[in-house]
Amino acid sequence: MGSIVLFGPPGAGKGTQAANIMRETGLPQVSTGDMLRAAIKAGSSIGLEAKAYMDRGALVPDDVILGLIQGRLLEDDAKNGVMFDGFPRTIPQAEALADLTTITHVLAIEVPDERIVERICGRVSCGACGAVYHDVFNNVPSSGCPCGTFIEKRRADDNESTVQNRLHAYHEQTSPLAAWYQERGVFHAVNGDRDINAVSQDLLGLLN
Ligand code: ADP
Ligand code: ADP
Repeated sequence: MGSIVLFGPPGAGKGTQAANIMRETGLPQVSTGDMLRAAIKAGSSIGLEAKAYMDRGALVPDDVILGLIQGRLLEDDAKNGVMFDGFPRTIPQAEALADLTTITHVLAIEVPDERIVERICGRVSCGACGAVYHDVFNNVPSSGCPCGTFIEKRRADDNESTVQNRLHAYHEQTSPLAAWYQERGVFHAVNGDRDINAVSQDLLGLLN
């Protein structure tokens, strides 16, 4: 078994699609963004260092990220592979990852920049279960979150000024990874500018 990478700009729908893919493959989700937010909440030194970068929409240094990933991949549930969400984001991260696990699929969700701002600025999630919703495109069901306790959470970095920096970082530092993984024969792209179910079907089709 190997690992999967969910790839795409901020707000492309990686977290939204992760749930289906986890169900289909049984691989645990490893989101470096979630790990960094947990480190900030815990007040750890990694969290303190990362926060300044995240608040302005810049990438956290590779050595910090790789330290987190190395620790995570030693955990029991990671031994048959994982599904990475938001990692790797730079060529040095991908190079280091190649020594840690085999990547079988890089699934890219393509969404044009002009859609990203509206997606990110309307994002809301459930603080209890982590489900991702949107004020307009994917509302919390009127019966509430399926987990039973909806706790509304919005990310501090989900605002218009930070989004522009995050998009800039994506185009400068992360998008070159598409060609890097194409050369290695594992890159697949889907059109993410469609409804959530249509995107899910394409992604699951690529895995089967
Ligand atoms: P990422 O993990 O790539 O940053 P998310 O999965 O958090 O992205 O999605 C960003 C926002 O866009 C969320 O509010 C989500 O509900 C919404 N969203 C995700 N996929 C779609 C889609 N196909 N169409 C419209 N909105 C979407
Ligand atoms: P999104 O995909 O919605 O932009 P994430 O939760 O993946 O959000 O990331 C939030 C922030 O955490 C990023 O803007 C960046 O500062 C930091 N981050 C997350 N993953 C990485 C990574 N692999 N490398 C560098 N920085 C990261």
